[in-house]
Amino acid sequence: MIELQQLEKRYGETHAVRDLNLSFPDGELTALLGPSGCGKTTTLRMINRLIEPSGGRVLLNGQDTRDLRPEALRRGIGYVIQQIGLFPHLSVAQNVATVPDLLGRDRAQTRRRVDELLELTGLDPAVFRGKKPSELSGGQAQRVGVARALAADPPVLLMDEPFGALDPLARDTLQEAFRDIQRRLRKTVIMVTHDIDEALRLGDRVALMRAGQLEQFGTPDDLIHRP
Ligand code: ADP
Ligand code: ADP
Repeated sequence: MIELQQLEKRYGETHAVRDLNLSFPDGELTALLGPSGCGKTTTLRMINRLIEPSGGRVLLNGQDTRDLRPEALRRGIGYVIQQIGLFPHLSVAQNVATVPDLLGRDRAQTRRRVDELLELTGLDPAVFRGKKPSELSGGQAQRVGVARALAADPPVLLMDEPFGALDPLARDTLQEAFRDIQRRLRKTVIMVTHDIDEALRLGDRVALMRAGQLEQFGTPDDLIHRP
């Protein structure tokens, strides 16, 4: 489980995140929702310590992430962003297999896993495994990014607007596929979005932020039924 305790981030005069207290339940998808500039990305990036907090703590299974080695943190927490940055010189399969290969996982097993994940994210492995990123559409590249994040098999996955740059049809399909995988694998997911429909549709919980602070936290039902 991930817990934020009195988390703070200041950029000079800007108080980007203030006194944030929040627990993300295991195996659930929590949407971090709010308008542009309210501190969502800063919060997400403090969780994997891409950004150092100005104050407060992030706990991963009760342990302060400040005390974790970077490799342990990277293994425990995966990260997906909108512009995924696939390695251009590697094939789709090699991109998806990056982390398992780095960790020295069994090759044959990784190969099967890569195919399975391509299939799950809606890419026919026979067609796509050998392609280069330059041969993919934006939506296909985003699928590969999601498959790569899942291949690393981290217990926790952070996603920053992962479905942002897609046309509506591609977005719906990938969202559905992802939701299905997330439930099946019981991944703990924290997903940043400014899209309220997406948050309510995909989130088990929604954390609503405004001006660096938590305004509401609850299930989509809680949020809809509260004024
Ligand atoms: P969101 O993800 O909700 O759009 P951010 O977390 O990106 O919001 O930003 C929160 C606030 O912090 C904004 O006012 C933004 O301008 C400010 N901010 C973010 N990153 C920096 C930075 N590197 N330097 C200065 N201010 C920043
Ligand atoms: P190298 O060039 O280092 O020998 P490979 O191209 O054989 O690397 O494989 C890199 C990674 O991509 C491996 O983890 C492998 O399992 C995966 N991979 C390679 N080819 C395929 C494929 N056809 N289907 C699925 N995964 C593959």
